[in-house]
Amino acid sequence: MNELFDFFKPKKKKEIKGLVLGLDNAGKTTILKAFKGETVKNLPPTKGFNFQKFEYNKTYFTLWDLGGQKSIRKFWEDYYQKENDCIIYVVDSSDSYRLEETGKELYNILQQPELSGVPLVIYANKQDLNMALSADEILEQLNLDDINDRNWTIVACSALTKQGLSSGLDWLIECNNENSKK
Ligand code: GDP
Repeated sequence: MNELFDFFKPKKKKEIKGLVLGLDNAGKTTILKAFKGETVKNLPPTKGFNFQKFEYNKTYFTLWDLGGQKSIRKFWEDYYQKENDCIIYVVDSSDSYRLEETGKELYNILQQPELSGVPLVIYANKQDLNMALSADEILEQLNLDDINDRNWTIVACSALTKQGLSSGLDWLIECNNENSKK
């Protein structure tokens, strides 16, 4: 009887909660705005935190963009303690000067016990720019193959043209489905 009742009950939509991290200017805010279908050109840099909720492919996403300036990175830790289903880490692929810094920040995040095992999407953003490193070059230079404690992927994208953005969300939905079967 219960099963019959379940059949008629409206299906609850899936929800994925998580963090959007990366250095300042990487494109975190622009990516979130693009997910929501909002205008993405010439945004001022994020000061402080920014919270976005949107629906994509029958899944509700709730994502915290924590801003990337050095002075506020220490507050990221407060948000690590929330229940997180994903980490979205954004890299400015055109900024080779800060590649080492962003790599250090990423590995620092991955070492946080509260975020252990949380699936990770790395967006190699700003692929529309000529000087952008490819996702493969970033993978190699940041030794991403060393990450073996969680599911992860790197996705080449441009928040401005929106190319590649949905692949990251599709991967997260797939990963979430797999995890909920376990
Ligand atoms: P945040 O500090 O990580 O939130 O970065 P923002 O989203 O504020 O973006 C910083 C700057 O990079 C802004 O001027 C954006 O317009 C620009 N930007 C973001 N994504 C892209 C992209 O994919 N391509 C290009 N060319 N510029 C981008």
